[in-house]
Amino acid sequence: MSGSHARCGRFLPGTPLAERFWAKVDRGDESGCWLWVGARNRDGYGHISIDATKRATASRVAWELHNGPIPSGMLVCHHCDMPPCVRPDHLFLGTHSDNARDCFAKGRRAAPMNAGERNPARKLSISDVAGIRKRLAAGEKRREIAIAHGVSPTQIFNIAHGICWASVDAGWSQHESHSCLARENASGVTHA
Ligand SMILES: [Zn+2]
Repeated sequence: MSGSHARCGRFLPGTPLAERFWAKVDRGDESGCWLWVGARNRDGYGHISIDATKRATASRVAWELHNGPIPSGMLVCHHCDMPPCVRPDHLFLGTHSDNARDCFAKGRRAAPMNAGERNPARKLSISDVAGIRKRLAAGEKRREIAIAHGVSPTQIFNIAHGICWASVDAGWSQHESHSCLARENASGVTHA
């Protein structure tokens, strides 16, 4: 462990990423999920500082630490459907369309974490998303669109970036949510 900051995900110069990362994982029992106990986003996904300016999604970091670089455009998905899980053998790579198919096939609704916060997103239908995209294209502010649709500005951001809409009528997918963070950090993960 590297001091109190290791618990809160703050970047500590000189501390290897792998060390900081695994210090924030509760491995529980051998057969179960390994849960991220550091910072999480509203959907329950862990995140960690890669350097002083970049963050990455914990499950993507777990994959890269275990398997090497994630091929461009690929998502890190969960077999276990547990957003905070970073156990490498519970993770698999998929494309956006694989992920959308997987979501529909599993009939996935909200993930078990933070279900209350996710409720607003489930109000959105595919046609809502189409409408939101039109409003974005017309230059409307995300915040105003979010209020009009009763969702968070973050969800509008996700739609604006074309990531999360595919699974919208199956509930917001944790896989898609992964990519929302990871998109900003996809090239930022280094290997210890
Ligand atoms: Zn798991």
